[in-house]
Amino acid sequence: MRKIIEEPQWQEATNLAQIGNRSDDQTGTVSTPIYLSTTFAHPALGKSTGYDYTRTANPTRDVVEQALAQLEHGRYGFATSSGMSAIQLVFELFPSGSRFLVSRDLYGGSYRYFDALAQKGYAQFTYFNTLSELEKGLAAKTTAVFLETPTNPLMNELDIAETARLAKEHGALLIVDNTFLTPILQKPLTLGADIVVHSATKFLGGHNDLLAGAVITASDELGEKLAFALNTTGAVLSPFDSWLLIRGLKTLALRVSQQEKNAQKLVHYLKKEALIKEVFYPERGSMVSLKLQSAEQVPHFLSSLKLFTFAESLGGVESLVTYPTTQTHADIPKDLRESYGLTEDLLRLSIGIEAAEDLIEDIQQALKRVTERD
Ligand SMILES: *Cc1c(COP(=O)(O)O)cnc(C)c1O
Repeated sequence: MRKIIEEPQWQEATNLAQIGNRSDDQTGTVSTPIYLSTTFAHPALGKSTGYDYTRTANPTRDVVEQALAQLEHGRYGFATSSGMSAIQLVFELFPSGSRFLVSRDLYGGSYRYFDALAQKGYAQFTYFNTLSELEKGLAAKTTAVFLETPTNPLMNELDIAETARLAKEHGALLIVDNTFLTPILQKPLTLGADIVVHSATKFLGGHNDLLAGAVITASDELGEKLAFALNTTGAVLSPFDSWLLIRGLKTLALRVSQQEKNAQKLVHYLKKEALIKEVFYPERGSMVSLKLQSAEQVPHFLSSLKLFTFAESLGGVESLVTYPTTQTHADIPKDLRESYGLTEDLLRLSIGIEAAEDLIEDIQQALKRVTERD
C-alpha cells in the first residue's frame, strides 16, 4: 500500500495529538481501532479492500506509518518490530559487496550488525569522525553513508546538510539514525538525507513499554523498494504495538520539550559541579553524557542514585542512566572505544519528564556519597 500522505494541515503538535482521529467515518472512533485480523476478505476475484494480509498492510499500522512519514516530512513510512530491524530493512536495499561510510561514535548494536555483515563478507564498512575524514572516504566508491547525530554517546553533532551534499556529489545515499533528537528537533530528510531510521523504542514510543523501529524515505522510489523488502522479510510492527506507538506519538512534542528543558537545567548544574570531570551535551535534546573523576567511582555512583534508574535505554518519561562500557557499547572493542573518547569513566543520562530539581538533587546526593567514601 502506498504510504504517501497529504501535506500536513496543522502545526506539528496538532498533527501529533490528532493521529488516528477520524480514521473511521462509520463509527467516528477517536482512538485508532486495533485491527488484529491477519487476513482480509476479498470482495471478488481480483478485488481488494486495500488490505489482504497483515504482513503487507494493516489498518492500524497504516495510521502510524502515515504519521511517521508526515512527521519526518517523507514520502513513505514503515513501522518495524525494532530499531535494529529498521536498520536491517534499509540494508536489504543494497547488493552484496557494497561499501558504506559510517560515523565512528554510534550505537553499539549498529556497530555489531555492521561488523557481522563485514565478517561474513557481505559488505565493507569504513568509519569516520569528521567531515574531512568523510570526504577522504568518499574518494573510494561508496554505496551509502550512515550516521547518527548527535553521536552516541559523545554527543558531537555532525552536519547533515553538508554530509548530504558530499554524499550526493559522490553518488552515495545518506541514511540518518534520528533516534536521539527526534523529528521534533531535527528533520534529516529536509536537510538532504535520503532515509531516516529510528529506534521507536526510545523517544517516539516514549514510555519504556514498546520495542519498535521506523524507516522513512525521501523518495517514492526508495519507499517502493522498502515496501517490497518489508513484505518479503516480514519484521513489521504488530497491530497492538502500532497502537501503542500511536499513543506514544500523540505526546511526543510535549515530552521532548519538557525533557529538553530538564536536560538544560541539569547541564547548567553539572557544568558547575566540581566532582564532574566533563559534560557532553549538544545544547539541544535530552541526552547528556558525563565523566566522573575516575572509573572506580562508577559502581558506587550508580548504586547511590535513587531517582535515575540504572538501565539500558533512553528517550522515555523516566530518567535513566546507562554505562556504555558494559551496556550499549560493549560490542565495540575496548581499544577502539577508548581511541575516540568512550572511556570507562563515562556515563550516559537520558533525561525524563520529572521535576528538574529532583533530578539535580539525585545526582548531587550520589556524588556526595561517592566522595564521602573516597
Ligand atoms: C536503541 C537504538 C537502536 C536499536 O533499536 P532497538 O529498538 O533497541 O532495536 C538503534 N539506534 C539507536 C541510536 C538506538 O539508541
